Amino acid sequence: MSEFAFELELCAHLESRREGVLARQLGASVADPGGRILDVVCVEPGPAFDDRVALSSAAVPDAAIEADVGTGRARYWKDAFDCHPDQARRAVDRACEIGFFERERRKGREYVRQVARYPDWYSRIVGIENKPDLGRPGDLEAQLRTDVSLAVVDEIVLATESYVTRAHLNRIPEAVGVWRVHREDSSGQGEDGVEIEVIRESEPLAVEDSGIEPLESHPGRTDIAVVAPDAKARKRRRIGERAYGKGWRTYDFPACGTCRPDDSSGATLPYCSWKGRVVDAGSECGTSCGGYEPVSESCSETESPPAVDLEAERDRRTPWTADPDGKRRRQSGLDQFG
Ligand code: SF4
Repeated sequence: MSEFAFELELCAHLESRREGVLARQLGASVADPGGRILDVVCVEPGPAFDDRVALSSAAVPDAAIEADVGTGRARYWKDAFDCHPDQARRAVDRACEIGFFERERRKGREYVRQVARYPDWYSRIVGIENKPDLGRPGDLEAQLRTDVSLAVVDEIVLATESYVTRAHLNRIPEAVGVWRVHREDSSGQGEDGVEIEVIRESEPLAVEDSGIEPLESHPGRTDIAVVAPDAKARKRRRIGERAYGKGWRTYDFPACGTCRPDDSSGATLPYCSWKGRVVDAGSECGTSCGGYEPVSESCSETESPPAVDLEAERDRRTPWTADPDGKRRRQSGLDQFG
């Protein structure tokens, strides 16, 4: 059973049924960044989602959002940031590059302003922990307890392929929703071969309150951090931005003749006919694999392996726009002076 294949097929299924933005493998802890990585995040659209789409295809750096820079008069960049100058410099450059800031020079000094006000673009954030095989739970219980006590996301769901017993349900916090995911082993499970059976609904988490983040465990005690509501709100915004910029199509296609792009799920996934499933090129593929075939042997000189443009697919299939109008307008405006 491959967690990677499970994750991609679940994302493809959710993308066609949910509004907003989906992403994989995003950090969701605050006191210990990287301490908790969520497998899948669904960011639901807020009132100004269209404005976010128009703003930029990339993630907006948090320091640029927090900076005291508005849309009116441009400010000297060094006066607008309350962080280390190197971080401020990086945020200014990136914000200009992706079209959130524009800059002007006066007397050798650089001034910046926002091209558009940062929009109120997301609402609920749902985290999904994938554990296709509950027989190999790893740190599952501790991870879900962290998600519930920290409550950075509005809902947390466990997605599995295993039969879920009462004992399984009793071991995980009550607020955690549980989905049993049925995949393509029998025909007729939805047009993409995936069906979600809701075993238990999730309960809303207290995102507006302080959260408790477990840190290190020692015999008889666990170190914790109390995370204030404003730190959680910043983290939520960062999760939203990372999800918007990154999406979930963050996988490669192996240079192996046995792998073919498969779009039967509605999204194009790297399907290996030797393994009979979707594969993770980064960790599973290479010339030492028993089923590896050099690409040149399976393709004639005129027939190269099909190129897959995952960014174009994301643009086509989701509200995310690779080249939003606002950016195009600014670029054509610059061209007039080129
Ligand atoms: S390298 Fe192996 S696992 Fe990867 S696509 Fe080729 S046959 Fe499949």
